[in-house]
Amino acid sequence: MPASSEENRAGERQAETGPPPYYHRSDCNICRKQDGLKTGSQLLDYPPPGGYIVESRRHLLDFGEMNVDEFAELGPLLHRLVPKENVGELRGVAYLAQQPPLSTSHDAAEAMARQIRELVQQS
Ligand SMILES: [Zn+2]
Repeated sequence: MPASSEENRAGERQAETGPPPYYHRSDCNICRKQDGLKTGSQLLDYPPPGGYIVESRRHLLDFGEMNVDEFAELGPLLHRLVPKENVGELRGVAYLAQQPPLSTSHDAAEAMARQIRELVQQS
């Protein structure tokens, strides 16, 4: 898909779409982060302790936009990682939405990220 920066009928500037294989969009903060641009988002401009471990390099709005090859690569990876401490009985959404919210120290988060990254690199 070629890059575009045309204006629509209302005079609004449309997002530019980058070249294959990633098709990064200028109006997507995740694409902007991956291109080394500031987004204005505290979550994206300042990486979490240990950095991001798994993210799509191609512009995707959600898992539904993944192709068969991407699903085939992601499924086994997620199955191996499971970054959850084995405490308590909560599972799934109940685990993620528990109150008070889940928290940890910066050092513990970095250590967990390092362990997960090591597992990814063993594949
Ligand atoms: Zn994007």
